[in-house]
Amino acid sequence: MPKSAKLSGIKSLRCYTIQEAAGVTGGSDRTIRAWIKQGLPALESERPTLVRGNALISFIEGQRQARKSHLSRDEFYCLKCRAARKPAGALVDCETDGARTKLTALCEACDTIMHKPITPISLSEVSDIFDVTMRSAPIRSSKADH
Ligand SMILES: [Zn+2]
Repeated sequence: MPKSAKLSGIKSLRCYTIQEAAGVTGGSDRTIRAWIKQGLPALESERPTLVRGNALISFIEGQRQARKSHLSRDEFYCLKCRAARKPAGALVDCETDGARTKLTALCEACDTIMHKPITPISLSEVSDIFDVTMRSAPIRSSKADH
């Protein structure tokens, strides 16, 4: 088990660079970058990339809740409802980025975008449950990878 992230040192009104966010949560730069890929909101137009303290706090809380609430295969964790929700209309986008596979859907209750990382192996199970749209190449300007 990875050690759990620290919440206590995060100031909600501050913006953190990836390095600072790693320092304050007790993680590594890689952890924070992985979180951003999993849906942690970041100001990626800024150089360096900044993460708001309150976004960081709610993302970590959401992760804890998601771990606790044992999502079933047809559920996502909605950060806004703070509860397990099903995708609206059973519509799910599947995005693969190298070795990572991520599902994206809208919360059936509040239309908030929800993300869930999955293993490529479980993709066939997922497509049995949902109407999955594959998006193999992220539609994004190449500058984001700079
Ligand atoms: Zn919701």
